[in-house]
Amino acid sequence: METVKIIIAGPRGRMGSEAVKMVTNTEHFELIAAVDHKHDGHMLSDLEGFHSINNVPIYSSIEKCLQNVESDVLIDLTTPEVGMHHARTALQHNVRPVVGTTGFTKADLEELELICKEKKLGCIIAPNFALGAVLMMKFSQMAAKYFNDIEIIELHHDQKLDAPSGTAVKTAEMMNAVRDFKQQGHPEEKETISGARGADFNGMHIHSVRLPGLIAHQQVLFGSDGQTLSIRHDSYNRASFMSGVKIAVETVMKQDLFVYGLENILE
Ligand code: NAP
Repeated sequence: METVKIIIAGPRGRMGSEAVKMVTNTEHFELIAAVDHKHDGHMLSDLEGFHSINNVPIYSSIEKCLQNVESDVLIDLTTPEVGMHHARTALQHNVRPVVGTTGFTKADLEELELICKEKKLGCIIAPNFALGAVLMMKFSQMAAKYFNDIEIIELHHDQKLDAPSGTAVKTAEMMNAVRDFKQQGHPEEKETISGARGADFNGMHIHSVRLPGLIAHQQVLFGSDGQTLSIRHDSYNRASFMSGVKIAVETVMKQDLFVYGLENILE
């Protein structure tokens, strides 16, 4: 298998540091640079936690990084605005983005899809790289054909910036594609405290829980006469996402199209 040359943006982050471990522990991957806005000109080995990782320069901007190193894939695990800029710039330099950063808008996704088409390049964006979470979404979509009363409860750590989570939105979109429309709850229901019924996604409700101690969890509840069905996935650490990132890097090298969601590349 040919070696894939990889840049990681956000290497000090909770996800980014796991990605550094995964890339450096994978035989056919090579970490050739990192993008970190706070450590320009340093080597990754200068930073706490990375002392054993040699020959990986850090650049403060994606532009500078792409001018100095030749790479195949950019893994972005930063923040939505930064991630969008990184993905767009990478594609313009013929580098394929694998993006785990969440919070991209519909317009962002459409713009990236268009650049991929023009450049005939692959790009994979996945709001959740945990394989179990992808199965949870697929099983939920299967159930939504038969149950159209649905509540999503997503639970994350309290440092998460976006709500609802990208996974919850993606799950709702997938279920919406097969569910018969229904505006749930009593037609005259009133919130005595604003937000009590959560976000409304085409009649379904999404509830976002934020607590220290949590990582990433989601439960999809289905109800009908005399029965409920619960489908739940829990990520207990960030290593749980890395098998999906690895598959995405391998796949993005073989595909010349834009993909949103890991479920679209799993066989
Ligand atoms: P985090 O710990 O806050 O890490 C984000 C990192 O990005 C920080 O180290 C931050 O540095 C860095 N950063 C910010 N601006 C930057 C820039 N201009 N250039 C380079 N680095 C920059 O967050 P996290 O928990 O790792 O999550 C990162 C993203 O992944 C979030 O969007 C999160 O929702 C998403 N996520 C995705 C999945 C998935 O499976 N797809 C799973 C979990 C999380 P400073 O803090 O120094 O600014």
